[in-house]
Amino acid sequence: MSPPILKDSFGRVMDYLRLAITDGCNLRCVYCVPEAGSGPTNVLSLDRCRRILHVLGSLGIKKVKITGGEPLVHPQVAAIVRLAKSTPNIDNVTLTTNGLLLASLADDLIEAGLDAVNVSLDTLDKERFHSITRGDYLPAVLDGLKKALSSSVLAVKVNCVPTANSPISDLLALTFLAKDHNLHVRFIELMPIGLGKNQVGLDPAALMTAITTTFGPLTPVSRQFGNGPAVYYSLPDFKGKIGFISAVKSCFCERCNRIRVTADGWFKTCLHMDKGLPLPLDDEAALATTVIEAVKAKPASHLFAAALSEDPLSPEDRLMSRIGG
Ligand code: SAM
Repeated sequence: MSPPILKDSFGRVMDYLRLAITDGCNLRCVYCVPEAGSGPTNVLSLDRCRRILHVLGSLGIKKVKITGGEPLVHPQVAAIVRLAKSTPNIDNVTLTTNGLLLASLADDLIEAGLDAVNVSLDTLDKERFHSITRGDYLPAVLDGLKKALSSSVLAVKVNCVPTANSPISDLLALTFLAKDHNLHVRFIELMPIGLGKNQVGLDPAALMTAITTTFGPLTPVSRQFGNGPAVYYSLPDFKGKIGFISAVKSCFCERCNRIRVTADGWFKTCLHMDKGLPLPLDDEAALATTVIEAVKAKPASHLFAAALSEDPLSPEDRLMSRIGG
């Protein structure tokens, strides 16, 4: 077997791409997108996706997460999933979505070969949903989740980003989804990126205590579910697991296997760093060289503790909706 090509200077091998196919979104979550929107929308064309996937597949990328913005607003999202799934070397294609358009698109996505879907959902309360997302679409999101769960091939997760304002009762209601449904619920620590800098995240310890008090002991599970860095727990009589992703407090950078391409063709070897670079998207050879060199310079760990560039026009000072999470 040939040695991995996308290896950084710390010996970490990159085999997981997060591809943000658009930075437009149909929700305006308060910690992610400004109320007035995020400005002009960038969209990756099918041709550019093909080139990116082909080059990165040939360099050793095996897993692809389609993200955004909201990936389901991309008119060719199913074609992109199909493309990714048929790219040599890529064997796992998943997608993260706010779920709003999932009910109508799930069949096409499944037919295109999608392996798993993560639905971002912070509350099951209609009013709280509106105050977080600035939209009245909870019923549509729940329809999308239901549709995903009705499939026998899709693995389903619910991702929640609790803030200090999240009522614990909302988070317990989300946890309860994993009791009778075949899904895992993950609580993701709020990261100080974009509008997330203006919010305070919830201490996961407080949530774990509330979950334990309500549902019984959280028992650590050694198995991983998917490609992410979540730490999973089981609860008595629950079908699904409960995961916690704590990127800031418990950095898992030493295991990082991820690279990111944004909808405007920006390459990031770390979610939070100052050294991304534009990709030559229309030239496969140059694209491969740029990626190989950039991966070599991947930082040892994220820089959440440090301020990024003070330049307000820096392409690194991005909203999360322009990075893709
Ligand atoms: N629209 C899609 C979705 O909702 O899943 C994909 C893009 S969205 C940026 C991906 C994930 O990032 C969502 O689960 C969202 O809640 C999360 N997110 C946004 N800003 C965040 C922040 N500052 N810290 C942690 N997660 C954040």
